[in-house]
Amino acid sequence: METGARMDIIENLIGLQRIDRKRDRLQKKLDEVPVKLKRYTDAIAAYETAHAEQASLMTKMRAEANRAELEVKTKEEQREKIKRQMNAPKLSNREYEALQEAMAAVLADIQSMTDTTIKGLQTAEEAEAKTAEIRADMEKLQAEYDAAKAKLEGSLQGVTDELAQRDEERAGYLNKVGAEQLRLYDRVRRKHTDCLAVLDGTIDRAAGRIGNDIHCSACYISIPANYAVRVLDRKEMLQCKSCSRILYVP
Ligand SMILES: [Zn+2]
Repeated sequence: METGARMDIIENLIGLQRIDRKRDRLQKKLDEVPVKLKRYTDAIAAYETAHAEQASLMTKMRAEANRAELEVKTKEEQREKIKRQMNAPKLSNREYEALQEAMAAVLADIQSMTDTTIKGLQTAEEAEAKTAEIRADMEKLQAEYDAAKAKLEGSLQGVTDELAQRDEERAGYLNKVGAEQLRLYDRVRRKHTDCLAVLDGTIDRAAGRIGNDIHCSACYISIPANYAVRVLDRKEMLQCKSCSRILYVP
């Protein structure tokens, strides 16, 4: 029965850590994919920004041109009205001069609004051409990115498969290790990837003798003999008081 308990705690954790180390190595390879593709994703993001800028400029300039065009129409109506007033009989010189002034102002406005319309439409057209250009470049790059990604992922297919296999193996251990033990193991492992530490020093299991030189092999802090006895017993998960790794004697 004691052997069973022993197996449960430390041996299972050693097995779990062995799998987790393999999983870490595999995951690291997969994590390199986005790093290797970064020059593509960065460039695509830059294209997206430029595209959005040009599209927004296009919308803005079209709206501006539309507004100016409407104003031209209003001013043209005013021009016709002034023209009619100027043709009215019996206008005094002063009245005629005032109408002439109003006409000059309306004509100047028409000219200015027409210029704004033309310029706005021109700028919008240029922006539209640029968005098309950017889109074409972006699509080309996107295709290159897709190909590079597929190639990378293809070359890592073995890694992905192996990781899935290790995940399955790990799931098997989860049934053997208690939930509380697993939480502790995971917590320590977030801090140290080598979360199990061997007790070093004079341990003669056969003679039942434990020296006073016992220490944690990871952080070298000295461990009291009575604590080492409990570690040797393997009935509980005992942590190093200094580095918090789970201690064991192989
Ligand atoms: Zn330690």
